[in-house]
Amino acid sequence: MTDTDRPEPPPHFIRTRIRKDVETEVVQQVVTRFPPEPNGYLHIGHAKSIALNFAMAEEFGGRTHLRFDDTNPMKEEQRYVDAIRDDVGWLGYEWARECYASDYFEQLYAWALHLIDQGLAYVDSQDADAIREQRGTLTEPGRESPYRDRPPAESRDLFERMRAGEFPDGAHVLRAKIDMAAPNINLRDPVLYRIRHQHHARTGDAWCIYPSYDFAHGQSDAIEGITHSLCTLEFEDHRPLYDWLIEHLPVPARPRQIEFARLNLDFTVLSKRRLSRLVDEGHVDGWDDPRMPTLAGIRRRGFTPASIRNFCTEIGVTKSESVIPFGALERNLRDDLNVRAPRRLAVLNPLKVILTNFPDDETEWLELPNHPQNPDMGTREVPLSRELWIEAGDFMIDAPKKFFRLKPGGEVRLRGAFIVRCDEVVKDDSGNVVALHCSFDPDTRSGQPGADRKVKGTIHWLSAEHAVRAEVRLYDRLFSVPHPAADKDRDFVEHLNPDSLQVVSDARIEPGVEAMAPGTHMQFERTGYFVVDRDSTPDAPVLNRAATLRDTWSKIEKQLR
Ligand code: ATP
Ligand code: MG
Repeated sequence: MTDTDRPEPPPHFIRTRIRKDVETEVVQQVVTRFPPEPNGYLHIGHAKSIALNFAMAEEFGGRTHLRFDDTNPMKEEQRYVDAIRDDVGWLGYEWARECYASDYFEQLYAWALHLIDQGLAYVDSQDADAIREQRGTLTEPGRESPYRDRPPAESRDLFERMRAGEFPDGAHVLRAKIDMAAPNINLRDPVLYRIRHQHHARTGDAWCIYPSYDFAHGQSDAIEGITHSLCTLEFEDHRPLYDWLIEHLPVPARPRQIEFARLNLDFTVLSKRRLSRLVDEGHVDGWDDPRMPTLAGIRRRGFTPASIRNFCTEIGVTKSESVIPFGALERNLRDDLNVRAPRRLAVLNPLKVILTNFPDDETEWLELPNHPQNPDMGTREVPLSRELWIEAGDFMIDAPKKFFRLKPGGEVRLRGAFIVRCDEVVKDDSGNVVALHCSFDPDTRSGQPGADRKVKGTIHWLSAEHAVRAEVRLYDRLFSVPHPAADKDRDFVEHLNPDSLQVVSDARIEPGVEAMAPGTHMQFERTGYFVVDRDSTPDAPVLNRAATLRDTWSKIEKQLR
């Protein structure tokens, strides 16, 4: 993939480490993987991991697997598999292989028997509470289970019968026999298998015992010949366990695990558990609500794959946790769309302007450029007639001196047309402004002697007769505080921003926009970057604001910090 005119990405410790492994021929071909658990939609944090895994393989001529770590049938669903596949593809990455931890269940089972036979695993017949209670704490060692010295033959028999479905859930577990006094709690005889009479999306009812994530994960990497297992820092403490398992099992390869810091974004939450609460409790309109930090959400909001890839390159990869401002994501979107998005006109809060010296039933078609700096993007015809809409905010009765838009007696240029003067303000009985009577100066049209005459302001407009009514959805931060999940005293949902969605139901858009396909991007001049929503139809167009033109948030964020 090429994101042109981007500088060479900065070196980071993972790139340096892989380069060294390649140069010293410790690895022949780099193989990485992105290993989601299909229990929810991917979020922008996952994009960091996806971008890193695919970039490392690509840079060193290797390959990347998409592996579903589907070891917990209680929470996993096929629709999540489909959504994850869709999101990774949308980001622009092609995986060399699609794998499933569940494809290795038979092999993992055989390896569990191997550990039992070596005296390195035993069946524990205590319940989960007892096991938890004996685990100890960071300052206290754990206590050994009374079943710890169960003879291997007995454990093997029980384990085989666990598989055969002879016992109910929770009756037994299989545990590794490592060290109950280990300072690292992950090494205190961790659970490798649990009984769960549960249908699995891929293996059906073939199994009623399921491997723990820790038992499946490292071995799956080994089976696939993953050379570099890139994962987030919370797995650093699990590495000794993964290493122990790899050392004691006849695995075909030895992956190297390297940890990096998770991506955190302000004004949102990045955890599937919290995101699924927002969905389940109806705080948002599904996983792809445009306010959600899920890839499906920000895609619907109007973010582009390039903007997300560029963002991931920009934030880099480190070992220290940090919180990235949401505005950084928006800046990358603006940078991308500023170059690529065609310009269109829209009026969100319409005010009528009547051009008193414009012929009554005449329509003029003006040729406007689709992009001010890029003539290759062509032009389009925009209708002009006697009655126009302008943005109500572009007019002020008692305007301050520096207000360079329209005011009584003042002049302004209508984008791509001519200069108009506000001659009369029409008000209703309650004194509200309902229309402006303006006259235009024909000399200031393009090609006329006054075409270059300068006035301070230029505003956008639409022909009232031709403009199309549309619903425009304006999105803001989902939460009103920078770190909603960090508040120990209040549930994070209490920090939801009540104004995160503002629906403008009677906006007007330039004719032609209503026929654009969902997912089409554009810049509404002077207004922002927008995308056609998937709810949109030509008869009832719906547009989402992806980002404002300027960063109005960086100031606010500074004050809140
Ligand atoms: P969550 O914590 O959001 O529930 P998870 O870690 O449980 O996510 P997985 O499906 O297990 O979700 O994650 C797949 C991969 O994505 C893992 O390698 C994980 O380290 C990585 N990942 C998850 N969240 C982030 C993040 N915020 N930043 C970077 N990588 C992440
Ligand atoms: Mg996880």
